[in-house]
Amino acid sequence: MDDLILSVDALEEADQPFEADLSREFLDEVLRAEPATEFHAAGAAHLRGRATKMGREVLARAKFTVPLQGHCKRCLKGVQLDEPVELVRAYVPAAELVPQRKRAGDVSEASFEPELVDEEGYQGKEIDLSPALREQILLSVPPSPLCDEQCKGLCPRCGKDLNEVECGCDRTVVDPRWAALKGIQLKKEK
Ligand SMILES: [Zn+2]
Ligand SMILES: [Zn+2]
Repeated sequence: MDDLILSVDALEEADQPFEADLSREFLDEVLRAEPATEFHAAGAAHLRGRATKMGREVLARAKFTVPLQGHCKRCLKGVQLDEPVELVRAYVPAAELVPQRKRAGDVSEASFEPELVDEEGYQGKEIDLSPALREQILLSVPPSPLCDEQCKGLCPRCGKDLNEVECGCDRTVVDPRWAALKGIQLKKEK
């Protein structure tokens, strides 16, 4: 993904806009890498960002929307959503990245409020945004696909969609060791 490389020398001091396409394949690779999320990419994303250079330090901000698809964890219906992702990250030449800097409280030297911005080192003259993008996408993806927060799911007995129909099954939780026996008794009653 050459799109996701920022060339430090080419950046001007001010808020410099940049754009990149995140292909569906790239997004899917992020979503399906171990440990995989429960989503697939439903399409590509277009990223718009701004980069500001201060000395050799670069503050990158970017926003984009990831189209996600999955299956509701409860009723298995298809779920589609557009998840907004926001990236704010400061890149510091690796040699200057001091691990204690965040804790030192040396505000006078820090150029970008380091308590608020994730800092990352970079080597040479190029910044690869893809690791940070991966991370940020994974942080933004919901834990599980749900068609609705109130989804009632499927009946564990008969498999009917409880959002559409009340099947009338007894869904009180039964100790699995007794479940088989209970099944036999029910058949005898008929
Ligand atoms: Zn559902
Ligand atoms: Zn049922």
